[in-house]
Amino acid sequence: MQQELFQMTDKGIYIPDADIYIDPWKPVEKSIITHGHSDHARFGNNSYLCHHLSKPVLKYRLGEMINCCSVEYNESFTINGIKFSLHPAGHIPGSAQIRIEKNGNVLVVSGDYKLENDFLSTPFEPVKCNTFITESTFGLPIFRWKKQSEIFKDINAWWQQNAAQNRASVLVAYSLGKAQRLLKGLDLHNGKIFAHGAVFNMNEVLRQAGLDLPYIERITADTNKSEFKNAMIIAPPSAVGNPWLKKFDPYSLAFCSGWMQVRGNKRRQAIDRGFVVSDHVDWPALNEAVKLTEAEKIYVTHGYTAVFVKWLRENNLDAHELKTEFTGESIIATDDINDEKNIA
Ligand SMILES: [Zn+2]
Ligand SMILES: [Zn+2]
Repeated sequence: MQQELFQMTDKGIYIPDADIYIDPWKPVEKSIITHGHSDHARFGNNSYLCHHLSKPVLKYRLGEMINCCSVEYNESFTINGIKFSLHPAGHIPGSAQIRIEKNGNVLVVSGDYKLENDFLSTPFEPVKCNTFITESTFGLPIFRWKKQSEIFKDINAWWQQNAAQNRASVLVAYSLGKAQRLLKGLDLHNGKIFAHGAVFNMNEVLRQAGLDLPYIERITADTNKSEFKNAMIIAPPSAVGNPWLKKFDPYSLAFCSGWMQVRGNKRRQAIDRGFVVSDHVDWPALNEAVKLTEAEKIYVTHGYTAVFVKWLRENNLDAHELKTEFTGESIIATDDINDEKNIA
């Protein structure tokens, strides 16, 4: 049996031969970051390495002064003789799986990923490996997503219906990734789109990085309220329950998340509609992704680890749980709060 290329430490996944961590949750000397969500990209590392599109996001969120290098997908580099490369994860712009190779033994760390092409992120690319570390945020058989074309039909119909009644449509989505994915799918014939400051800022960071995204007007104290009545407003999760929403009255409030598939989540947050839009693999896609890697050994992290490991073992795969400090969506919500603070 070959020795694993990684170790699990109290700071996260560590590659001892290269003395580097992947998405560490405590400050380290050297790190490779899969993508800009704050459960993966944290403060305090001495150096960061990521994809070109993640770099401006990391600089925006963690500070202009961070020491950050970036590479293109499929561009290999070596650290202490260990070969590394980043491969598209399809999760959000710049998101990457990390491939690590030593003496023909290949490890892939998935980060967060999805297989469906969102026409925003570079589409997921399966990478063959001996060992695959996969996320399992939605690793339960109940999670099955509708095709995104159908979801967008629903969202645009909801908008049209609200507009016909002179009601604003407030759509809640994470400012990094989800908000831009919505911009790609919304039907601009329905009316005007406005953005909350946190969404506006992130959209501008990605536009300046060269992503093909529309310019969306930011809501300020001076925005004429009459403009809202048939408009679409994209807001971050921190806006839910916030008095800021009052300026759109009358409005309908909807939330976009994979968690909307769980009954009760909508009611608990006092929202009118839940759209199941996820940037993670659902159950069938998770299984497909594991198969595509042809890995002999699978480590499961970041979500429903126990359930998915049990399932893989029942299917005669050598699967193990990898305990991480998983905090998932709750910590991503703090991204948006930080993005608001960044509003200049
Ligand atoms: Zn993520
Ligand atoms: Zn994550």
